[in-house]
Amino acid sequence: MTPMFGEDGWCRVCGVPLRKQAGSMVLERRNITVEGGWVPYLFGDTICLESSLALAAAEKFNLDLRPIAWHGVSPGDALQIVIPVVGDAWFDHGELRAKAIGKHGSAGARCAECGTWRWLPLGFAPMPPPFGTLPPLRVRPSLGAVDVAASPEVFGDGLMAFRQMLFRRELAEFIAAASPRDFEARTVR
Ligand SMILES: [Zn+2]
Repeated sequence: MTPMFGEDGWCRVCGVPLRKQAGSMVLERRNITVEGGWVPYLFGDTICLESSLALAAAEKFNLDLRPIAWHGVSPGDALQIVIPVVGDAWFDHGELRAKAIGKHGSAGARCAECGTWRWLPLGFAPMPPPFGTLPPLRVRPSLGAVDVAASPEVFGDGLMAFRQMLFRRELAEFIAAASPRDFEARTVR
């Protein structure tokens, strides 16, 4: 987290970034083949793309791309899609609370250190159980013309913190076509 957000740019208790990303994500090269796209371990709300794929994506879509750095020798050039938080709310929080309590027995918790409320983990409805437990989207205000967005709501538990992601269908299909074993484009409502 420190290379991406700075020494004091993230909460040490809940793992939530406290400011915009300013540096490169640093990945362990172990077990990584730089090919197509992938979701990096421990950073569940971003996507990495092999560089030629990323540059092809950037020609078609409005993306904030940042080069990935590696511990040790680089296994290949790759870029991270930095996904902006868009909107004030993506869900009705009463519905979210009911779903989280239904699944976990608790809605979530506020971090005593940074004050961030984290909902206990839930996933979009088209996903197979146990992931498909989020209530329907009620995005306020509308997402507008963005190609990719992260939810204002933060989810997670322990040191895990993540936001939901939405991709414009054409971008989702572009990534899924390049990495069909890892991604599938699904419509959410
Ligand atoms: Zn915190």
